[in-house]
Amino acid sequence: MEDEPLLNAGIGACLNADGEVELDAGVMEGAALRAGGVACVKDVRHPVDLAMEVMRDGRHVLLSGSGASRFARDHGVEMTDPSIFINNRKRQLRQQGADTVGAVARDSEGRLAVAVSTGGISGKLPGRIGDSPIPGAGMYADDLFGAVCGTGQGEAFIRLGLARLMVVELQHGMEAGAVARGAVDFLGKSLRARGGVIVIGREGPPHAAFNTPAMPWAKAQ
Ligand code: ASP
Repeated sequence: MEDEPLLNAGIGACLNADGEVELDAGVMEGAALRAGGVACVKDVRHPVDLAMEVMRDGRHVLLSGSGASRFARDHGVEMTDPSIFINNRKRQLRQQGADTVGAVARDSEGRLAVAVSTGGISGKLPGRIGDSPIPGAGMYADDLFGAVCGTGQGEAFIRLGLARLMVVELQHGMEAGAVARGAVDFLGKSLRARGGVIVIGREGPPHAAFNTPAMPWAKAQ
């Protein structure tokens, strides 16, 4: 999905206040609560691959900017000229914190995972880090309870610790659909923020909820 120019990740991602693309991505595996995130990367072809590499390496959870790029080069992650991400400057300036890409997954053995990749929000200050690479804010996975992925105003997700909160609600026995609806309601009522979430529990289908005009999502078995 980072290669699809219509989505706010990789090619076609929104532009910051300097007219540049700065990308964030995160992954988490619910089995051992391993997580990796990268922020403000400009020259990594697939930021989600770099997040995976950070997670596999295991020393740190979050890397940003030039340090993340150096780590990418050192670990053989594909690099690129930053200009590749800009394919339609006008449209990329208009992106309003939407169309981030993310997935939650449960395999046949019940293992849960989440991955998310984004350009953030258009016009953001250079150096801004959103919720997507931050475990507990824009994503979370715990095999015991569920996996969550968010999109929307990242500052609100960070302030509410929303992804972690949702997993705690699953832990307390709330049904996944109710957790998703409740999270979006909370986002809107507490901080007047807009966004959407997808969530999958230990059993049953995934659920989505959003208070944005639309949030395309799909499920596969
Ligand atoms: N949540 C992302 C961010 O704030 C933006 C989005 O989901 O579109 O970085």
